[in-house]
Amino acid sequence: DLRGQVAVITGSTSGIGLALARAVAARGGDVVLNGLGDPSEIERNRAEMEAACGVRVRYHGADMRHGEEVADMVAFAKHELGRLDILVNNAGVQHVEAIEKFPADKWEQILAINLSSAFYATRAAVPIMKAQGRGRIINVASAHGLVASPFKSAYVAAKHGVIGLTKTVGLELAREGITCNAICPGFVETPIVDKQIADQARTHGISKDRVLEEIILKSQPTKRFVTTDELVGIFLYLVSDLGASANGTAFSIDGGWTAH
Ligand code: NAD
Repeated sequence: DLRGQVAVITGSTSGIGLALARAVAARGGDVVLNGLGDPSEIERNRAEMEAACGVRVRYHGADMRHGEEVADMVAFAKHELGRLDILVNNAGVQHVEAIEKFPADKWEQILAINLSSAFYATRAAVPIMKAQGRGRIINVASAHGLVASPFKSAYVAAKHGVIGLTKTVGLELAREGITCNAICPGFVETPIVDKQIADQARTHGISKDRVLEEIILKSQPTKRFVTTDELVGIFLYLVSDLGASANGTAFSIDGGWTAH
Protein backbone atom coordinates (compact mmCIF):
# COMPACT_ATOMS: atom_id res chain seq x y z
CA ASP A 1 0.00 0.00 0.00
CA LEU A 2 1.60 3.28 -1.11
CA ARG A 3 -1.27 5.60 -0.19
CA GLY A 4 -0.04 9.00 0.93
CA GLN A 5 3.33 8.53 -0.75
CA VAL A 6 4.73 10.49 -3.67
CA ALA A 7 7.05 9.00 -6.28
CA VAL A 8 9.14 10.75 -8.93
CA ILE A 9 10.10 8.38 -11.73
CA THR A 10 12.39 9.65 -14.47
CA GLY A 11 11.93 8.25 -17.97
CA SER A 12 8.43 7.02 -17.13
CA THR A 13 6.76 7.70 -20.47
CA SER A 14 7.78 4.26 -21.72
CA GLY A 15 9.05 0.80 -20.83
CA ILE A 16 10.28 0.05 -17.31
CA GLY A 17 9.61 3.54 -15.91
CA LEU A 18 6.01 3.49 -17.11
CA ALA A 19 5.49 0.04 -15.58
CA LEU A 20 6.87 1.26 -12.23
CA ALA A 21 4.68 4.39 -12.38
CA ARG A 22 1.59 2.24 -12.99
CA ALA A 23 2.59 -0.02 -10.08
CA VAL A 24 2.82 2.97 -7.72
CA ALA A 25 -0.51 4.42 -8.88
CA ALA A 26 -2.22 1.01 -8.62
CA ARG A 27 -1.21 0.91 -4.94
CA GLY A 28 -2.55 4.38 -4.23
CA GLY A 29 0.63 6.45 -4.54
CA ASP A 30 0.87 9.81 -6.31
CA VAL A 31 3.30 10.01 -9.22
CA VAL A 32 5.34 12.55 -11.15
CA LEU A 33 5.89 11.22 -14.65
CA ASN A 34 8.84 12.37 -16.74
CA GLY A 35 10.25 11.58 -20.13
CA LEU A 36 10.15 12.28 -23.82
CA GLY A 37 7.44 11.35 -26.28
CA ASP A 38 4.28 12.40 -28.03
CA PRO A 39 2.53 14.94 -25.71
CA SER A 40 -0.95 13.59 -26.42
CA GLU A 41 0.11 10.02 -25.65
CA ILE A 42 1.80 11.16 -22.41
CA GLU A 43 -1.34 13.05 -21.43
CA ARG A 44 -3.51 10.02 -22.22
CA ASN A 45 -1.36 7.77 -19.99
CA ARG A 46 -1.35 10.38 -17.23
CA ALA A 47 -5.12 10.91 -17.25
CA GLU A 48 -5.78 7.17 -17.51
CA MET A 49 -3.64 6.42 -14.43
CA GLU A 50 -5.32 9.18 -12.44
CA ALA A 51 -8.82 8.03 -13.36
CA ALA A 52 -8.20 4.30 -12.95
CA CYS A 53 -6.38 4.57 -9.62
CA GLY A 54 -7.89 7.65 -7.98
CA VAL A 55 -4.45 9.18 -7.40
CA ARG A 56 -2.73 12.38 -8.46
CA VAL A 57 -0.46 11.99 -11.46
CA ARG A 58 1.53 14.96 -12.76
CA TYR A 59 3.95 15.24 -15.67
CA HIS A 60 7.22 17.20 -15.67
CA GLY A 61 9.13 17.42 -18.93
CA ALA A 62 12.67 17.86 -17.51
CA ASP A 63 15.34 16.93 -20.04
CA MET A 64 17.74 14.62 -18.15
CA ARG A 65 20.69 16.19 -19.97
CA HIS A 66 20.25 19.38 -17.95
CA GLY A 67 20.91 19.36 -14.19
CA GLU A 68 18.81 22.47 -13.47
CA GLU A 69 15.76 20.91 -15.13
CA VAL A 70 16.25 17.71 -13.13
CA ALA A 71 16.39 19.67 -9.87
CA ASP A 72 13.31 21.63 -10.94
CA MET A 73 11.40 18.34 -11.45
CA VAL A 74 12.15 17.29 -7.86
CA ALA A 75 11.06 20.70 -6.50
CA PHE A 76 7.89 20.41 -8.63
CA ALA A 77 6.98 17.11 -6.92
CA LYS A 78 7.22 18.67 -3.47
CA HIS A 79 5.41 21.83 -4.57
CA GLU A 80 2.59 20.06 -6.47
CA LEU A 81 2.10 16.92 -4.41
CA GLY A 82 3.37 18.02 -1.00
CA ARG A 83 6.16 15.50 -0.36
CA LEU A 84 8.63 13.09 -1.90
CA ASP A 85 8.98 9.50 -0.70
CA ILE A 86 10.32 7.57 -3.65
CA LEU A 87 12.80 8.69 -6.30
CA VAL A 88 13.44 6.34 -9.21
CA ASN A 89 16.32 7.33 -11.45
CA ASN A 90 15.37 5.34 -14.50
CA ALA A 91 15.79 7.46 -17.64
CA GLY A 92 18.36 5.97 -19.95
CA VAL A 93 19.57 5.80 -23.52
CA GLN A 94 21.91 3.49 -25.40
CA HIS A 95 24.27 3.72 -28.34
CA VAL A 96 26.06 0.71 -29.79
CA GLU A 97 29.33 1.42 -31.63
CA ALA A 98 32.98 0.38 -31.66
CA ILE A 99 35.12 2.47 -29.27
CA GLU A 100 37.25 4.05 -32.00
CA LYS A 101 34.15 5.25 -33.86
CA PHE A 102 32.05 6.10 -30.82
CA PRO A 103 30.71 9.66 -31.36
CA ALA A 104 31.85 12.08 -28.63
CA ASP A 105 28.41 13.71 -28.45
CA LYS A 106 26.79 10.28 -27.81
CA TRP A 107 29.29 9.65 -25.03
CA GLU A 108 28.45 12.99 -23.37
CA GLN A 109 24.71 12.42 -23.78
CA ILE A 110 24.74 8.91 -22.32
CA LEU A 111 26.83 10.00 -19.34
CA ALA A 112 24.47 12.94 -18.72
CA ILE A 113 21.18 11.04 -19.07
CA ASN A 114 22.18 7.67 -17.56
CA LEU A 115 24.46 8.89 -14.75
CA SER A 116 24.58 12.64 -14.03
CA SER A 117 20.78 13.01 -13.95
CA ALA A 118 20.71 10.54 -11.02
CA PHE A 119 23.21 12.76 -9.17
CA TYR A 120 21.16 15.93 -9.76
CA ALA A 121 17.86 14.30 -8.81
CA THR A 122 19.31 12.66 -5.69
CA ARG A 123 21.00 15.88 -4.59
CA ALA A 124 17.67 17.72 -4.83
CA ALA A 125 15.60 14.92 -3.23
CA VAL A 126 17.73 14.20 -0.17
CA PRO A 127 16.92 17.39 1.82
CA ILE A 128 13.18 16.70 1.36
CA MET A 129 13.54 13.04 2.39
CA LYS A 130 15.76 13.95 5.37
CA ALA A 131 13.11 16.39 6.62
CA GLN A 132 10.49 13.61 6.33
CA GLY A 133 12.75 11.08 8.09
CA ARG A 134 12.22 8.45 5.41
CA GLY A 135 12.97 7.96 1.75
CA ARG A 136 13.69 5.42 -0.94
CA ILE A 137 16.06 6.08 -3.84
CA ILE A 138 16.13 3.44 -6.54
CA ASN A 139 18.51 3.64 -9.46
CA VAL A 140 17.69 1.53 -12.48
CA ALA A 141 21.19 0.42 -13.47
CA SER A 142 21.65 -2.72 -15.58
CA ALA A 143 23.51 -6.01 -15.75
CA HIS A 144 25.87 -3.68 -17.61
CA GLY A 145 26.48 -1.93 -14.27
CA LEU A 146 28.27 -5.12 -13.17
CA VAL A 147 29.72 -6.65 -16.34
CA ALA A 148 30.50 -5.35 -19.82
CA SER A 149 29.67 -6.17 -23.42
CA PRO A 150 31.57 -4.96 -26.48
CA PHE A 151 30.42 -1.83 -28.36
CA LYS A 152 28.67 -0.31 -25.33
CA SER A 153 31.49 1.74 -23.79
CA ALA A 154 29.45 4.78 -22.72
CA TYR A 155 26.48 2.76 -21.42
CA VAL A 156 28.66 0.32 -19.46
CA ALA A 157 30.75 3.17 -18.01
CA ALA A 158 27.63 5.13 -17.01
CA LYS A 159 25.89 2.11 -15.45
CA HIS A 160 29.01 1.13 -13.47
CA GLY A 161 29.03 4.77 -12.33
CA VAL A 162 25.40 4.50 -11.21
CA ILE A 163 26.34 1.61 -8.93
CA GLY A 164 29.20 3.64 -7.45
CA LEU A 165 26.82 6.52 -6.81
CA THR A 166 24.31 4.09 -5.25
CA LYS A 167 26.90 2.75 -2.79
CA THR A 168 28.06 6.24 -1.78
CA VAL A 169 24.57 7.64 -1.25
CA GLY A 170 23.59 4.50 0.69
CA LEU A 171 26.51 5.05 3.07
CA GLU A 172 25.82 8.75 3.52
CA LEU A 173 22.13 8.37 4.37
CA ALA A 174 22.15 5.11 6.31
CA ARG A 175 21.18 6.83 9.58
CA GLU A 176 18.47 9.00 8.04
CA GLY A 177 15.81 6.36 7.27
CA ILE A 178 16.69 6.70 3.61
CA THR A 179 17.93 3.82 1.49
CA CYS A 180 19.57 3.93 -1.92
CA ASN A 181 19.76 0.81 -4.08
CA ALA A 182 20.27 -0.17 -7.69
CA ILE A 183 18.23 -2.63 -9.71
CA CYS A 184 20.22 -4.38 -12.43
CA PRO A 185 17.88 -5.83 -15.04
CA GLY A 186 18.96 -8.18 -17.78
CA PHE A 187 17.26 -7.69 -21.13
CA VAL A 188 13.67 -6.47 -20.93
CA GLU A 189 11.61 -6.09 -24.09
CA THR A 190 11.16 -2.30 -24.34
CA PRO A 191 11.77 0.32 -27.07
CA ILE A 192 15.43 0.77 -25.99
CA VAL A 193 16.03 -2.92 -26.75
CA ASP A 194 14.03 -2.94 -29.98
CA LYS A 195 16.31 -0.18 -31.21
CA GLN A 196 19.42 -2.13 -30.13
CA ILE A 197 18.30 -5.22 -31.99
CA ALA A 198 18.12 -3.11 -35.14
CA ASP A 199 21.51 -1.43 -34.41
CA GLN A 200 23.24 -4.74 -33.65
CA ALA A 201 21.83 -6.23 -36.85
CA ARG A 202 23.40 -3.31 -38.73
CA THR A 203 26.75 -3.43 -36.83
CA HIS A 204 27.17 -7.20 -37.27
CA GLY A 205 25.47 -7.43 -40.67
CA ILE A 206 23.07 -10.20 -39.55
CA SER A 207 19.28 -10.58 -39.28
CA LYS A 208 17.24 -9.36 -36.28
CA ASP A 209 16.30 -12.96 -35.41
CA ARG A 210 19.97 -13.92 -35.26
CA VAL A 211 20.74 -10.87 -33.07
CA LEU A 212 18.05 -11.98 -30.63
CA GLU A 213 19.29 -15.56 -30.46
CA GLU A 214 23.05 -15.10 -30.76
CA ILE A 215 23.63 -11.75 -29.02
CA ILE A 216 20.77 -10.47 -26.90
CA LEU A 217 19.55 -13.66 -25.24
CA LYS A 218 22.95 -15.37 -25.47
CA SER A 219 23.95 -13.81 -22.16
CA GLN A 220 20.61 -14.49 -20.47
CA PRO A 221 20.55 -18.13 -19.25
CA THR A 222 16.74 -18.20 -18.98
CA LYS A 223 16.62 -17.52 -22.76
CA ARG A 224 13.74 -15.15 -22.35
CA PHE A 225 13.30 -11.47 -21.59
CA VAL A 226 12.94 -10.27 -18.00
CA THR A 227 9.41 -8.88 -17.61
CA THR A 228 8.52 -5.47 -16.24
CA ASP A 229 6.35 -7.27 -13.64
CA GLU A 230 9.47 -9.00 -12.34
CA LEU A 231 11.07 -5.57 -11.87
CA VAL A 232 7.94 -4.29 -10.13
CA GLY A 233 8.49 -7.17 -7.67
CA ILE A 234 11.92 -6.04 -6.47
CA PHE A 235 10.81 -2.39 -6.59
CA LEU A 236 7.86 -3.00 -4.22
CA TYR A 237 10.14 -4.85 -1.82
CA LEU A 238 12.71 -2.04 -1.81
CA VAL A 239 10.16 0.73 -1.16
CA SER A 240 8.45 -1.22 1.63
CA ASP A 241 9.40 -1.27 5.31
CA LEU A 242 10.65 -4.84 4.81
CA GLY A 243 13.32 -3.34 2.55
CA ALA A 244 14.69 -1.00 5.22
CA SER A 245 18.03 -2.86 5.60
CA ALA A 246 18.60 -3.29 1.88
CA ASN A 247 20.94 -0.36 1.31
CA GLY A 248 23.79 0.69 -0.94
CA THR A 249 23.65 -2.44 -3.03
CA ALA A 250 22.74 -3.75 -6.46
CA PHE A 251 20.00 -6.31 -7.12
CA SER A 252 20.44 -8.43 -10.22
CA ILE A 253 17.18 -9.35 -11.93
CA ASP A 254 18.76 -10.85 -15.00
CA GLY A 255 17.79 -14.50 -15.32
CA GLY A 256 21.28 -15.50 -14.17
CA TRP A 257 23.30 -13.43 -16.66
CA THR A 258 25.86 -12.14 -14.15
CA ALA A 259 26.31 -15.63 -12.66
CA HIS A 260 28.43 -16.45 -15.73
P1 NAD B 1 12.74 3.03 -22.83
O1 NAD B 1 13.46 3.56 -24.01
O2 NAD B 1 11.40 2.41 -23.00
O3 NAD B 1 12.60 4.17 -21.72
C1 NAD B 1 13.55 5.19 -21.53
C2 NAD B 1 12.88 6.37 -20.91
O4 NAD B 1 13.85 7.42 -20.72
C3 NAD B 1 11.77 6.96 -21.80
O5 NAD B 1 10.69 7.38 -21.00
C4 NAD B 1 12.46 8.17 -22.41
O6 NAD B 1 11.57 9.20 -22.82
C5 NAD B 1 13.34 8.62 -21.26
N1 NAD B 1 14.40 9.52 -21.70
C6 NAD B 1 15.35 9.32 -22.64
N2 NAD B 1 16.11 10.42 -22.79
C7 NAD B 1 15.61 11.35 -21.93
C8 NAD B 1 15.95 12.69 -21.62
N3 NAD B 1 16.95 13.33 -22.24
N4 NAD B 1 15.22 13.33 -20.69
C9 NAD B 1 14.18 12.72 -20.07
N5 NAD B 1 13.81 11.46 -20.32
C10 NAD B 1 14.53 10.79 -21.24
O7 NAD B 1 13.74 1.97 -22.18
P2 NAD B 1 13.64 1.08 -20.84
O8 NAD B 1 14.11 -0.25 -21.23
O9 NAD B 1 12.35 1.21 -20.16
O10 NAD B 1 14.80 1.76 -19.99
C11 NAD B 1 14.63 2.27 -18.69
C12 NAD B 1 15.93 2.11 -17.92
O11 NAD B 1 16.19 0.72 -17.76
C13 NAD B 1 17.15 2.71 -18.62
O12 NAD B 1 17.98 3.34 -17.68
C14 NAD B 1 17.83 1.49 -19.20
O13 NAD B 1 19.21 1.69 -19.35
C15 NAD B 1 17.53 0.47 -18.12
N6 NAD B 1 17.66 -0.92 -18.54
C16 NAD B 1 16.90 -1.42 -19.56
C17 NAD B 1 17.08 -2.74 -19.93
C18 NAD B 1 16.28 -3.36 -21.04
O14 NAD B 1 16.64 -4.46 -21.47
N7 NAD B 1 15.23 -2.75 -21.53
C19 NAD B 1 18.00 -3.54 -19.28
C20 NAD B 1 18.75 -3.01 -18.25
C21 NAD B 1 18.57 -1.69 -17.89
